[in-house]
Amino acid sequence: MSTVFGPVPSRRLGQSLGIDPIPAKTCNWNCVYCQLGRTVPLINERKEYIPRPEILAELQDALKAHRAGEIDWITFVGSGEPTLHSGIGWLIRAIKQITPIPVAVITNGSLLYLEEVRRDLLAADAVLPTLDAGNGQLYRKINRPWPEITFERLLDGLKSFSREYQGKLWVEVMLIEGLNDPPQALIEITEILKEIHPDQVHINLPTRPPAEAWVKAPSQEGVLRAISILGEIAHPVSPAEGSFDLSGHASIEEAILDILTRHPVEEKVLQQNIDRYVPGQAGQVLQNLLESGQVQIVERFGDRFWSIARAVYSDKKV
Ligand code: SF4
Repeated sequence: MSTVFGPVPSRRLGQSLGIDPIPAKTCNWNCVYCQLGRTVPLINERKEYIPRPEILAELQDALKAHRAGEIDWITFVGSGEPTLHSGIGWLIRAIKQITPIPVAVITNGSLLYLEEVRRDLLAADAVLPTLDAGNGQLYRKINRPWPEITFERLLDGLKSFSREYQGKLWVEVMLIEGLNDPPQALIEITEILKEIHPDQVHINLPTRPPAEAWVKAPSQEGVLRAISILGEIAHPVSPAEGSFDLSGHASIEEAILDILTRHPVEEKVLQQNIDRYVPGQAGQVLQNLLESGQVQIVERFGDRFWSIARAVYSDKKV
């Protein structure tokens, strides 16, 4: 599987060329809302999971394959926590030498308490860490972190990074009904944001299948409450389900598996995209994928989503 994918449409980052520098679902959190399913097991080891020259070579090939203007951002993101790759700083600096396209890092922020991780991210043009909770109890309930990554360490890291970093700091808050959408939970997050001074706060909603079936997006009222409490730099964003680049793979099935490894896709969106590449063959392509045993169908929120078969979703309802 390639470590560079896309470009894919992103509401915040336009056409985003993704770099996924770690094996699937390598993460030190196990968020209840994770669209990639449960983290089994939790991993908190920083190392060079994939050789950095290999990732850089793939990126150079991808840049050559696209015309100027087709890529708005190069984004470290994907199927886990990208700062677990110990070469991320080297990679960001190397990318800045070969292209003027801005670089973003989507991270859970849990390792920012480590000086070397903060130093690694300094050269990025935008860093998007997560802050879903304003107290340790809620943090453990929502993000279910590796035990040593305490709430205090998360806050220390965010505050230190915001003092040292010159680029754009966009904090992401995943809003979950009944957990962090009540007024008191939002006020606690706001108090922390006042110390971090982000440039923007992005309110995300769990619109793709969450690891835990009981996770729900808040009502419109909950979203409006979050916007009013988190302040004027806060605004909702949701994943852009536009068109995918299905070229550059040995088969269309492989291209789809590459996308599903990064996130589940709603069935009708998948069908539309396949039809654009091979008109009239969407049904057959999806059937081939199902028969290969590499995908699963997850029903959530009244819709059918396609996901990679190894993703672990709970069907428990509470
Ligand atoms: S949402 Fe991100 S941080 Fe949370 S478990 Fe999934 S990959 Fe890890």
